[in-house]
Amino acid sequence: MSEPGSPLERPGSIEVIVGSMYSGKTEELIRRLRRAQIARQKVEIFKPAIDQRYAQDAIVSHSDLRIPSRAVKDAREILRYAHEAEVIGIDEGQFLGPDLVQVCNRLARRGKRVIVAGLDQDYAGRPFEPMPQLLAIAEYITKTLAICVVCGSPANRTYRKLRRSGRVVVGGTDLYEARCRRCYELGRRVSAPGDAARNAVAATPIGGKNAGSKTGRPARRRARRGPRRRVR
Ligand SMILES: [Zn+2]
Repeated sequence: MSEPGSPLERPGSIEVIVGSMYSGKTEELIRRLRRAQIARQKVEIFKPAIDQRYAQDAIVSHSDLRIPSRAVKDAREILRYAHEAEVIGIDEGQFLGPDLVQVCNRLARRGKRVIVAGLDQDYAGRPFEPMPQLLAIAEYITKTLAICVVCGSPANRTYRKLRRSGRVVVGGTDLYEARCRRCYELGRRVSAPGDAARNAVAATPIGGKNAGSKTGRPARRRARRGPRRRVR
């Protein structure tokens, strides 16, 4: 391995894909990695060992796209397996700690294309290290937006539905949902239409089919307006 590499070598780069949960980060990561594989580039894929939600040996998106990966317990371990790779994919970067920044820099300096996906904010809306630091040093940044489960607007927050202490609590739709800025701030005062029906809550501001919102418009119509307005 040559470090820092001759001027004739391909320059490396860092790409970061960030967003809330359910925003399609992993899907986008898998899409890029598959294209690299189709181009017959040598690809190595990593994820933190902490994330065992779907599979030990694969990265799996919420839409059930999957690609084989290696589980690592920390960022340094990536260096051990990345020697031969031209393209390196890393999912759930927020769980790999502050060393990930230096690890990505080292790999890029060796001419590798490094693609990292992760949460940019935690459940409390705070920047989730080391993703902010990676955003600062990356050549390419993609921010993915989910759809707010309450009102249908573009969503960049991850809302934790149940009270659990600790920054890292791995969970799925039972524990987390995507929300826009406004519905995130409203917290427990609003809920997804499905949740409202399940909990038999009659009078939430934005609730089931016929629940009126604060503006008197039916919730269903408001939900559809969000994303459409943004497309224009
Ligand atoms: Zn919303």
